[in-house]
Amino acid sequence: MLSVKDAETIIFNLVQPLDHQRDVEIVDISTAGNRILANPITSSLDFPHWDNSAMDGFAVRYQDVQHSSSEKPVILDIVTEIPAGYQPQSPILPGQAARIFTGAPMPPGADTVVMQEKTQQKGNQVLILAAPRPQEFVRHQGSFYQAGTQLLPGGIPIFAPEIAVLAAAQCPQVIVFRRPRVAIFSTGNELVAPNQPLQPGQIVDSNQYALAALVRESGAEPLLLGSIRDEPTAIKEAITNALTNADLVISSGGVSVGEYDYVKPTLESLGAKIPIQFVDMRPGRPLTVATFPELNSSILYFGLPGNPVSVLVSFWRFVQPTIKKLAGLSTAWEPKFLKVRSHCELRSDGKRETYIWGNLHLTAGVYEFHKAVGTQSSGNLINLASTNALALLPVGKTLITPQEEVEVLQVR
Ligand code: AMP
Ligand code: MG
Repeated sequence: MLSVKDAETIIFNLVQPLDHQRDVEIVDISTAGNRILANPITSSLDFPHWDNSAMDGFAVRYQDVQHSSSEKPVILDIVTEIPAGYQPQSPILPGQAARIFTGAPMPPGADTVVMQEKTQQKGNQVLILAAPRPQEFVRHQGSFYQAGTQLLPGGIPIFAPEIAVLAAAQCPQVIVFRRPRVAIFSTGNELVAPNQPLQPGQIVDSNQYALAALVRESGAEPLLLGSIRDEPTAIKEAITNALTNADLVISSGGVSVGEYDYVKPTLESLGAKIPIQFVDMRPGRPLTVATFPELNSSILYFGLPGNPVSVLVSFWRFVQPTIKKLAGLSTAWEPKFLKVRSHCELRSDGKRETYIWGNLHLTAGVYEFHKAVGTQSSGNLINLASTNALALLPVGKTLITPQEEVEVLQVR
């Protein structure tokens, strides 16, 4: 059977990210948070735009003050005052200084700023009480960024720092990737919607709602196709509909070896290639991954198992990174594992890579993994609520003792 690592490699290699020219839209930077920058940004501005002061103090000529000290202070004439926003005109001549404030442009002639705390002002004159270093407290034009070079790379997520940079570079609008559309449907004759009365033998289609939320959290737009009966024609119709309207398809249920598991044969009847059918993990062993080369399509199909816990674990492990890569992220789309301390004993039969759900707690500044209370059954979605992490026990590892290090996938 395929290891989780091998399955991951197959899946991530199959993802074809959205096109950075075709699959884009323009948004205002005020609404660009959490979007993905489609293309690199360059600016015609230097940062800083001009030499300016990093301190409140006095702009001076270094030569004048290089030997100054509290015992033998150099005395300079204050010839002008330069607040932020003011453009100094006349040069500072030998023996002169300008009163200057943080961020204000350096006057011509001056090359160094002496901080206010190292000076003493007496009327129109200033005593320099300590020798500065040459060019001290001057932020030089272009020292943070030079015009024409790359300011931001394409494929990065836009958060507050990037929005600040875009605003400062006078980019009020920005080209971002459109959100990928992800079709979602559930299969199962037993499924009803949450607002329908439950008949004996029926359960609510919770997967549809969980998947919609997960897709949205991952930066994509869910397209809900409903609960589909375990009938080949109905499943075929849903898949065909999904393939024409979405960039990625996720179904739940019907991918195991039971009599009513029609997803795989239906995909085959549509000419799909199925590189993955089972993965050596628990929960989430049945996992159908299909592509449609005969349809000239780059769409990936994930047939997740029906068990609600398996759906979430398979999603976090494989589908979320897929959506992030598809959405245009050039880095940081991979699943993020942390090494933390386990608070309690964790057990597995060691036969398959095992995921145990629970919580990362911050205890005295160190993350600890606490296993969720209750049974770790893939049918028990109740104790998955309020968890935020999955601990991973690799194949062959049957026991992790309290305080032992454990690898954890942080899922929110
Ligand atoms: P299956 O993989 O179709 O054999 O389903 C496995 C288990 O998951 C069964 O107990 C189903 O009733 C349950 N299940 C399947 N689909 C859903 C769903 N959409 N929401 C909640 N539970 C489901
Ligand atoms: Mg089923």
